[in-house]
Amino acid sequence: MGNTFDHEHSYPGRLIIVEGIDGSGKSTQIQLLQKWLVSMGYRVFFTEWNSSALVKETIRRGKKKNLLTPTTFSILHATDFADRLAHLILPPLKAGMIVLADRYVFTAFARDVVRGVHPEWVRQMYGFAVRPDLAFYFKVPIEVSLKRILVGRASLKFHEAGMDLGLSDDPKESFKIFQSKIIEEYNAIADEFKLVVMDATKPIYSQQAIVREFVQEKLQNYTGIPYTSVLSDEQAKR
Ligand code: ADP
Repeated sequence: MGNTFDHEHSYPGRLIIVEGIDGSGKSTQIQLLQKWLVSMGYRVFFTEWNSSALVKETIRRGKKKNLLTPTTFSILHATDFADRLAHLILPPLKAGMIVLADRYVFTAFARDVVRGVHPEWVRQMYGFAVRPDLAFYFKVPIEVSLKRILVGRASLKFHEAGMDLGLSDDPKESFKIFQSKIIEEYNAIADEFKLVVMDATKPIYSQQAIVREFVQEKLQNYTGIPYTSVLSDEQAKR
C-alpha cells in the first residue's frame, strides 16, 4: 500500500479538520461549522481524536499507571486512529459526506514528538491516513488557553498538563512548559503541511466567519454524490 497521506484523496466526500492546543477554541469552531453546514442541507459526520472503543481502555489504564513509553503510546494512538479511519472516517467520505474531525494526525505529530518520538517515524506511521481537504490550526498563546480552560473547570488533567514528563511539580507550570513545546511543533507542522493558521485570540464569531469562507471555497466543486449513485450513460438509459 502506498503512502496515501502524500496526495489528495479521490473520495466524493470532504474531510475538514481542526487542530490546536487545549483551550484554543477549536471545538467551539468546528461545532459552529457543523451547525452551519447542516443548516444548509449538507450531510455531515463529526468525529473526535481518541474515541474508538478498540484501544480506549488500554490507553486509559496505561495513562493511569504511567505504564506507556512514548513509542507504545504513539503506536496505540495510531492503532486507535487506524480503527476510526476505517470505521468512522472512510465510510462517510465514500458516501460523499462532509467529515469534520476535532483533531487529526497532526495532534500525534505534535504530541508524540514532544514526548520524544522521532518526527519522521511518526509521520511514516500515519502514512495510511487520508489527507484532509482543509486543515485549520487555531494558534493561541498559552496564557489565553490556560485562562479559558480554568474558567470551565477547577484543575488541569494530568496528561493535558504533561505531568508524566516530570517538567514541573506544579500542574500550571508543567502545562505551560509542555504546551509551549506543542505550540512550537504545531507552528512547524503548519508550515510543512500548509495548515490554515487562525488567530485564535479573536472573538468566536469573527473566527467563524473566516472558517466559513475557507470552507465555502473548498465546497465549490463538491456535489456530495457518492460514486455508486452516479449512473453511467448506459445505466441511465435502462
Ligand atoms: P478546545 O477544543 O480547543 O479545547 P474549546 O472550544 O472547548 O477549546 O474552548 C475552550 C473554552 O474557551 C470554552 O469555554 C469556550 O467557550 C471558550 N472559547 C472558545 N473560543 C473562544 C474565543 N474565541 N474567545 C473566548 N473564549 C473562547
